[in-house]
Amino acid sequence: MAGSGVFAEIKDGDGVFRYYSDGEWKASASGKSVPIINPTTRNTHFKVQACTQEEVNKIVESARAAQKLWAKTPLWKRAELLHRAAAVLKEHKAPIAECLVKEIAKPAKDAVTEVVRSGDLISYCAEEGVRILGEGKFLVSDSFPGNERTKYCLTSKIPLGVVLAIPPFNYPVNLAVSKIAPALIAGNSIVLKPPTQGAVAALHMVHCFHLAGFPRGLISCVTGKGSEIGDFLTMHPGVSCISFTGGDTGIAISKKAGMIPLQMELGGKDACIILEDADLDLGAANVVKGGFSYSGQRCTAVKVVLVMESVADELVEKVNAKVRKLTVGAPEDDCDITPVVTESSANFIEGLVMDAKQKGATFCQEYRREGNLIWPLLLDHVRPDMRIAWEEPFGPVLPVIRINSVEEGIHHCNASNFGLQGCVFTRDINKAILISDAMETGTVQINSAPARGPDHFPFQGLKDSGIGSQGITNSINMMTKIKSTVINLPTPSYTMG
Ligand code: NAP
Repeated sequence: MAGSGVFAEIKDGDGVFRYYSDGEWKASASGKSVPIINPTTRNTHFKVQACTQEEVNKIVESARAAQKLWAKTPLWKRAELLHRAAAVLKEHKAPIAECLVKEIAKPAKDAVTEVVRSGDLISYCAEEGVRILGEGKFLVSDSFPGNERTKYCLTSKIPLGVVLAIPPFNYPVNLAVSKIAPALIAGNSIVLKPPTQGAVAALHMVHCFHLAGFPRGLISCVTGKGSEIGDFLTMHPGVSCISFTGGDTGIAISKKAGMIPLQMELGGKDACIILEDADLDLGAANVVKGGFSYSGQRCTAVKVVLVMESVADELVEKVNAKVRKLTVGAPEDDCDITPVVTESSANFIEGLVMDAKQKGATFCQEYRREGNLIWPLLLDHVRPDMRIAWEEPFGPVLPVIRINSVEEGIHHCNASNFGLQGCVFTRDINKAILISDAMETGTVQINSAPARGPDHFPFQGLKDSGIGSQGITNSINMMTKIKSTVINLPTPSYTMG
């Protein structure tokens, strides 16, 4: 059960989950809590502390102090602690997964996978960090005209300071550790602000780092609504780097933040282009997996299908046959389609569906909704004047746009404000590579649905989909700065003989 056993200390006597500061679990002086609504029952399931600005100040202060010592800690020792945290996390996968089921309605098996994958990510990061941070460069001055070989430059990667990590609701554990582990191995301290839906899973994950024995103050976790505490955190002068994953909030943060490195992973409208020569069974399987896994609540979900008119009927038929087999219901029953995260998300999705209906889209299934649960829906004959052609539903609703040329598909993809991922299905590899070159997205998958992993692959969005690149190696590099030390030798007094 959440907050019991080794996790008992993370909850106070009133059942409110504590926040984590300076190596201790604390109740906020605000005396206020934030409810976490179970998306399935729509009742309050957990409560977390609403932290105050003073508490944030204290956290940042201790994070700065702890970081100074941590930067001097040998890499192997940092890695050892990370490996320990990974093992503790995996050992406690069941209670953490249970929180994911209750807070964000993640299907039970996927919830366990998220925790295990996060443990793997931490270990991979520890190993990668030891390798890439153990290396620096040695340069000499003679390439600069008029210089003797008297300047030696030594460069190494140094930490930035305090990294503020803000993950979204859909992977509150995995997208938190994808920021925490690179920051720590690189010698930074971490202040985590988890999403409200998903905060309790994240607090359990943080406790695993606590149990692993990290120094006090190095890792902290502030809870509270992003709309209330978010600006104070992101504009805090003690923060040296922000790693954020989420929606449009990230665009606002990047305009308000100071002169510090930003890593922004934002929304997407990932297009799936299907050509006449595609393997349509493979395409249909990927459209369904890509479009409907975790009820479409993934940044890299297929969010629009752009299919050549000549094969569209056949593709839609194959997709519909698979949609009929999707199970719909409670996350505890491990259903394919579970309630979307909040009532306002469900209302937003419904708005997109009604707009498409009014403008004449073909409904391949009847639209059905009970509370936050929306049945999977494929909308055919979607046109560019419909909102769903451009907006991110973040739900189990997938538009199909029929195209008459590859150029039309590429044009639609590139006209989007987003540029996260895309995919193309064709048996012609030359064509696939040309299309990949033409698509303005951070990644293009050939003959498979968009996906974030494996976690060490570079992952990035163009345009409104993000700033910078992640993946384990890129994140470690992003959370460091190059430091140069130049040794100036005396000018040699040799004679040319
Ligand atoms: P969101 O509403 O933007 O929230 C993301 C995080 O920001 C949450 O922790 C939220 O806390 C916090 N927040 C809210 N207001 C803030 C503020 N003023 N300052 C600082 N932080 C603030 O996104 P979401 O609904 O959780 O996630 C869905 C979105 O994330 C989708 O657009 C999806 O495409 C995107 N996403 C992108 C990637 C990627 O890698 N590109 C991966 C996953 C998801 P509260 O929960 O307390 O409001």
